[in-house]
Amino acid sequence: MRRRPCLVCSVLTRNPSRCDRHQAEWQARQDQLRGSASQRGYGTAYRRTAAAVLAKHRAQYGGWCPGYGVPAHPAEDLTADHVLPKSRGGGDQRENLTPLCRSCNSRKRNR
Ligand SMILES: [Zn+2]
Ligand SMILES: [Zn+2]
Repeated sequence: MRRRPCLVCSVLTRNPSRCDRHQAEWQARQDQLRGSASQRGYGTAYRRTAAAVLAKHRAQYGGWCPGYGVPAHPAEDLTADHVLPKSRGGGDQRENLTPLCRSCNSRKRNR
């Protein structure tokens, strides 16, 4: 059977892309990413709505963050923030999502 080099350490392996050890590590990381996204309740529906909210905002205002506790400012790393947090009963509908850059978003969350 043909062996291929592992993408990470180049050790020859019978696996398609990674040696056993790196395959296991990679799989664990994938599971973790998937797990944390769904644990926070950020499913596919949220991501689709969030993308639509951000696309609309960008079309209207470009890369601007409305600001949270700071004046509006240029920002490329916009995220869709829950106006009413999910922990207080907020939903994933468009009306409850507003664009905020990452730093404003984390400032708001840390309050
Ligand atoms: Zn490897
Ligand atoms: Zn901001």
